[in-house]
Amino acid sequence: MKIGDTMKKIYDYDLGGKKVIIRVDFNVPIKDGVITDDNRIKKSLKTINYALEKGAKVLLLSHLGRVKEESDLAKNDLSPVAKRLEELLGRKVTFINATRGEEVENALNDNDLVLLQNTRYEDLDGEKESKNDPELGAYWASLGDLYINDAFGTSHRAHASNVGIASHLPSGIGFLVEKELDNIMPVLENPERPFTVILGGSKVSDKIGVIENLIDKADNLLIGGGMAYTFLKSKGENIGKSLVEDDKIDYCIDLLKKSDRIIIPKDHKCAKNIESSECYVKDVMDDDDIALDIGPKTVEEFKDVIRNSKTIIWNGPLGMFENPLYKTGTEEICKTFTKDQTVIVGGGDSASAVINLGYKDNVTHISTGGGASLELLEGKVLPGISSISE
Ligand code: AMP
Repeated sequence: MKIGDTMKKIYDYDLGGKKVIIRVDFNVPIKDGVITDDNRIKKSLKTINYALEKGAKVLLLSHLGRVKEESDLAKNDLSPVAKRLEELLGRKVTFINATRGEEVENALNDNDLVLLQNTRYEDLDGEKESKNDPELGAYWASLGDLYINDAFGTSHRAHASNVGIASHLPSGIGFLVEKELDNIMPVLENPERPFTVILGGSKVSDKIGVIENLIDKADNLLIGGGMAYTFLKSKGENIGKSLVEDDKIDYCIDLLKKSDRIIIPKDHKCAKNIESSECYVKDVMDDDDIALDIGPKTVEEFKDVIRNSKTIIWNGPLGMFENPLYKTGTEEICKTFTKDQTVIVGGGDSASAVINLGYKDNVTHISTGGGASLELLEGKVLPGISSISE
């Protein structure tokens, strides 16, 4: 069963004349007041447009960055997002530079579409947003008739602007969250086999939850990226100066003993230092080598497994893909996927790798939430989702 199945969706409600609070994820990168990637804003348009078309008055809430001290306020001002949203929707967006007060309370009386200032401005005084302060959740809930969660990327957090509001109002999920659940949950619950999990990125410790949840379900677990070198070291191999987590060696030894489905790199693209423009391939490293990508034999081995898979979950790049010298492993994997496979890419670095290398059309779904998708892959229940009305 999909967890989304029993959950109320935005289209289960009659929105006409209602004040609808939509929690969106407008946590976009902003440099000197300019949005450098507006993908998250674009992804929210479907739900916002739907609510407006159905005659709702819409109040948008989002966080942006972290607010710990006064100097974080200006950096994390949401007003540039309101402007960009206005351009994308082609209609007026009223931005209220406050998270509470009279102007906030009256905003929907004269306007159809309102964005409040960054919800984390409330963190300055006692982390009210991030600690799900009950008074704050109740206050924001008092501004509307219905709450819609369309911020998948924050659904693994119990904050006032999601769980807090949802505990006071009828609620539902928006189209973005529904798409995430519809793509990810069936693969976790009933994957078409062979089912392959590809893990990369820098640390074993970040991926232990995913490994534990999927090791018995997956037919193959391919491990690349910096995390692979803790596994190699656990087998007694020389990993030179490659990334390693010495406190995870015992974990890797146990895991490799327990499972014969794990494939780790057999050759490596190395350099003498990260800045060097010279790289070379080695099967066996020396003390001064740093492995920064999987080597060509490993690429071929991984490709064979992928070609024979029906379902693939991928989290974490297989090398330091940001440097063109070490993007090959990650890129070759992207090229191998075919249309008759289901390929789910976790958010964060793996998502940017697939998008930046130009292969987003080769995969079935790229999650918009790094932490949230990781927690789903770990088999956890996301509070921002489980708090939604059934
Ligand atoms: P994570 O945030 O844990 O998913 O790790 C992503 C980061 O791991 C990316 O910035 C990659 O550049 C980096 N990475 C991948 N492979 C390696 C490697 N072999 N050595 C060092 N860093 C790596």
